[in-house]
Amino acid sequence: MLGAGDSMNISTGITAGGSKFIQEHGIKGKSTQDYVDHLMKQAKDKGIPINKANVETYARRGGEIIDWLEQLGVPFGRFQEDKYFHITKDGSAPGPHIMKALKAEVEKQGIPYRLNSKVTEILSDHGKAIGVEVSTPEGKYKVLSKAVIVATGGFSASPELLKRYAPDWIGRPTTGASSLTGDGIRMAQAIGADTASMEQIKVNYLCHPLTKKDGVSLTAITPYTVLVNHDGKRFVDENHPSINYKSKAMMKQPKHEAYAVVDQKAMDNLKLMRNYADAGYFVKADTIPGLAKKLDVNQKAFIETMDAYIKDCKEGLKNDKAFGRKIQYPMLNPPYYAALVTPSMQSTYGGIKTNTKAEALDTKGHVIPGLYAAGAASGHEAYANEVGFAAIIGLTYGRIAGEKAAAYVK
Ligand SMILES: Cc1cc2nc3c(=O)[nH]c(=O)nc-3n(C[C@H](O)[C@H](O)[C@H](O)COP(=O)(O)OP(=O)(O)OC[C@H]3O[C@@H](n4cnc5c(N)ncnc54)[C@H](O)[C@@H]3O)c2cc1C
Repeated sequence: MLGAGDSMNISTGITAGGSKFIQEHGIKGKSTQDYVDHLMKQAKDKGIPINKANVETYARRGGEIIDWLEQLGVPFGRFQEDKYFHITKDGSAPGPHIMKALKAEVEKQGIPYRLNSKVTEILSDHGKAIGVEVSTPEGKYKVLSKAVIVATGGFSASPELLKRYAPDWIGRPTTGASSLTGDGIRMAQAIGADTASMEQIKVNYLCHPLTKKDGVSLTAITPYTVLVNHDGKRFVDENHPSINYKSKAMMKQPKHEAYAVVDQKAMDNLKLMRNYADAGYFVKADTIPGLAKKLDVNQKAFIETMDAYIKDCKEGLKNDKAFGRKIQYPMLNPPYYAALVTPSMQSTYGGIKTNTKAEALDTKGHVIPGLYAAGAASGHEAYANEVGFAAIIGLTYGRIAGEKAAAYVK
């Protein structure tokens, strides 16, 4: 199917400054330049060695991509200012809306695509990319072309690549797509491409495990939730800006797990979470003692922990007393809900080394003629999830790769 990768999984929001949505809603201080500055500051504060040119290039065009998605029918209706997230009106996951809109556009423009077709090799001639070999249930064939854009996603489902680049996280469940085995990265390497920032990964501590191997991401509840371990204690600032930091903190808790507790407000605001509650992923109770009884926790400690946090909310504190966590949505609206969560492999953000034109580079830094890469298959040294978020990088460099490849072909 179209959308058999992580783009269908995009669950929270799409980041950008300067979109028409921002302008039309009179949201101040969120221009394109503000977004560029925000990303540069994040990188500086965290000491992350981003490629500034690559980051600035996508950040300058993010607003235009949001406008385009809206025009194609993606129902953005809210904006989360601290993260520059464009969120859907009803809080449903943006991914399926985006895939539906893009599929309709592909059909409208009559752009041919082939399903059940696995690319197994990028063909090259004298260092230029000249097509691909495709494997189908009916057999193999070649497609000759003047340019190739690799958009095969990351490698979160490749045990070999994870063993090499993320060994600490082997054996965790995954919230990502099973199709993401790093094929495009390996195929590009086979014709000389370099890779960049392969160690950039996201481990999602807000994974509700469904089996030992996979689960669903509850990331959208980040601004609403507090995390309580089996001992009934909180252990981290739930609003800490680093997702991997919070994942590491959770790995130190009993069974590497915790309960993500939210109130009715999160359910009212997020359709995705209402769907997950209907699916049985949350336990619900009218009171905190009632919730404690339904969870595998030290009940006394759990009640004390939650009472202390709710007291801070009732007092209208901006940050809670125990961890200094920013209280964006005070927990004041029973009933309460809790979902078991554990760190999972979510996505990878390193890949084929590319420049601001989405051109693939070889190990000497030279452009490989005809080869372009975008999305999670590419490595822009943009450090998504520590500096900005991934989907807009993929969407923007996808557009840039298309533009540049089209110009190259002419
Ligand atoms: C649970 C979850 C939630 C997320 N939420 C957000 C969010 O809220 N905001 C955000 O910014 N980012 C989010 N992300 C990250 C985001 O989803 C990805 O960075 C982005 O979707 C990557 O898009 P892509 O087009 O590069 O790859 P994908 O969408 O994964 O597409 C890759 C495609 O390539 C195909 N493919 C792979 N190998 C081959 C081959 N050999 N031949 C042919 N086809 C092949 C796959 O089947 C797939 O269809 C989330 C990720 C996950 C897992």
